[in-house]
Amino acid sequence: MKCKVCKATAVVSLPSHNTGFCADCFMSFYERSVERSIRRQKLFTFEDKILIALSGGKDSLACALVLKKLGYNVHGLHIDLAIPDSSAAARGVVERFCDSHDIPLIIKKMEEEGLQIPRVKKVLSRSVCSACGRIKRYFFNKVAIDEGFTVLATGHNLDDEIARLFSNTLRWDIPHLSDQGPLLEAENGFARKVRPLFRLTEFENANYAFLNDLEYHYAPCPYSPGATSTAYKKLWNQLEEEMPGRKLAFYTAFLAHGREPFRQFEKEEGTKPVPCERCGYPTSVGICGVCRTRDAVAADE
Ligand code: SF4
Ligand code: ZN
Repeated sequence: MKCKVCKATAVVSLPSHNTGFCADCFMSFYERSVERSIRRQKLFTFEDKILIALSGGKDSLACALVLKKLGYNVHGLHIDLAIPDSSAAARGVVERFCDSHDIPLIIKKMEEEGLQIPRVKKVLSRSVCSACGRIKRYFFNKVAIDEGFTVLATGHNLDDEIARLFSNTLRWDIPHLSDQGPLLEAENGFARKVRPLFRLTEFENANYAFLNDLEYHYAPCPYSPGATSTAYKKLWNQLEEEMPGRKLAFYTAFLAHGREPFRQFEKEEGTKPVPCERCGYPTSVGICGVCRTRDAVAADE
């Protein structure tokens, strides 16, 4: 196969776009695609101070790299979860990445917050992943607001977005359907959130990471349960193989026509968050989940 642009030998084949690219033309395609998403969805501008959540995985690092290359004002945030055999390696990858790409980095250590994940796991009767996810979202938001960032970015890709949309649709989960998308405006104590890679698949991100020689963290977390989202991703990959382009079409049609009725419904019927009585973080009632988890860990000492 030849590169669509320069006719050199293609190294990346993209059936969803019915085309292929050489290494240099693929990078331009990828970067233009991110730039177009930022512009069309009005995610942010060159004046914004952007905080990007860096787990050490290829998606978040690819996201930080492309935003930096495009000239945006990017800072990194890494949450050190203190998980044995995983967190130290992830943190090392993020530190080396930020160092070599001149990206200022904030590290938030859960050990210092009394929320190290192994101890959280010990006091929970249910899955640690939902508590871990809640803790990460809490500190992403808190650091963004406390440190004066105007935008909080994450490296969610099209496959992540599709898996989440599919899961929400199977449950007709209106609150989550109404706030799914590449941009969530700041409101009720939440920072403005963006997902600049929403048009790019996991495969495209992996290629971008590989062609840029990115070192990334891929050792699975010892608590990783084989999430349901993995099953949805598998299903969608099968569908995409039969019908190239289906993922992007499904997602963009949802943004264009499907989401608004859910938003309207939530506006009229949904419950508004209130500040946590303890820490001020938005919650549905009383004391937020993170404060309650912290109490449970402290009581177990
Ligand atoms: Fe946290 Fe679960 Fe992910 Fe491990 S697999 S980092 S516990 S969300
Ligand atoms: Zn709280």
